[in-house]
Amino acid sequence: MMKKILITGAAGFLGSHLCDRFINEGYYVIGMDNFITGDKKNLFHLEENLCFEFIEHDVTEFINIEGDLDYILHFASPASPIDYLKIPIQTLKVGSLGTHNLLGLAKAKKARILIASTSEVYGDPLVHPQTENYYGNVNTIGPRGVYDEAKRFQESITMAYHRFHGLETRIARIFNTYGPRMRLNDGRVIPAFIGQALRGEDLTIFGDGSQTRSFCYVDDQVEGIYKLLLSSYGLPVNIGNPHEITIKEFAEEVIKLTGTTQNIVYKELPQDDPLQRQPDISLAKKQLNWEPKINREEGMARTYEYFKTLSKEELFKSEH
Ligand code: NAD
Ligand code: UDP
Repeated sequence: MMKKILITGAAGFLGSHLCDRFINEGYYVIGMDNFITGDKKNLFHLEENLCFEFIEHDVTEFINIEGDLDYILHFASPASPIDYLKIPIQTLKVGSLGTHNLLGLAKAKKARILIASTSEVYGDPLVHPQTENYYGNVNTIGPRGVYDEAKRFQESITMAYHRFHGLETRIARIFNTYGPRMRLNDGRVIPAFIGQALRGEDLTIFGDGSQTRSFCYVDDQVEGIYKLLLSSYGLPVNIGNPHEITIKEFAEEVIKLTGTTQNIVYKELPQDDPLQRQPDISLAKKQLNWEPKINREEGMARTYEYFKTLSKEELFKSEH
């Protein structure tokens, strides 16, 4: 019998790659999404696939799935700062009510559930690199609080279902991940810089560019999530690439990669934008025997190839 997995956020960047991976591993995949930040295009290639079905649904509403279910991956949530600033209430609801619904479904089906948490639970971290036992530094009432606190609540309710109901739960603390199928206009730094280079615009650095991030290629992220789901480890695990870079150095890498002759312009740093971010992945190495394999040069080359395939219309389409 094929194992059956429900993947929420299936039309999004990570969700669609997870659908592909689980289908390739021989699973029957049910994708669920309400398209609030996702794109139907990310699933076109699965339309005829007999191991895939899609349900258009908002996970903050009661979820009804016929038959058995072995696993759930809860990836539905706006994930980029401009998205969750634009739809703050939906962001809080999908992390809280949505997660509650999915935990209830997992309990009813006796399914194992993995939830997509985030490095944002560490806020603007005072510990560097971030280990899983760091409690974080989040401004609950700041603009990013809607995302960070939704994800912190999500972790708490997941652990409560584990402790109180004995549910099998997994928590992935995902650090900045990139690759094909990111939305060009989602405001995250990689599509932003590549889009600007392709349109012949200046690259916008927020602040002085000394803030750091550590970028993980999507295939590595998917492998980490796959291993975590199938592992026996129930506490949060950081999944990310520890190679840290300043945003200024990163902009220079994008200029080199794309050959753009445009300049860098500086804009105001958004409120509560974390100044440093780098995962400590010792736990993932030990528990999952996992570490990223694709370096930034290779990952960015693949990502650039993807964005180059977009039509002029898509490239110049503005969402704001
Ligand atoms: P994305 O915006 O591409 O995908 C999210 C998907 O969830 C979209 O297709 C959206 O339509 C769907 N969605 C949102 N609210 C929904 C709802 N109420 N009901 C049904 N579907 C809903 O974002 P992504 O980068 O693929 O992120 C996926 C998950 O991974 C999110 O939970 C995010 O918090 C987490 N995450 C991502 C990163 C990253 O770097 N990409 C980092 C940390 C955490
Ligand atoms: N950033 C930037 N220019 C942009 C978009 C983002 O300098 O056009 C910065 C942003 O301020 C942050 C970093 O790049 O310091 C990563 O931003 P992103 O939105 O990708 O992710 P997050 O802040 O959630 O890590």
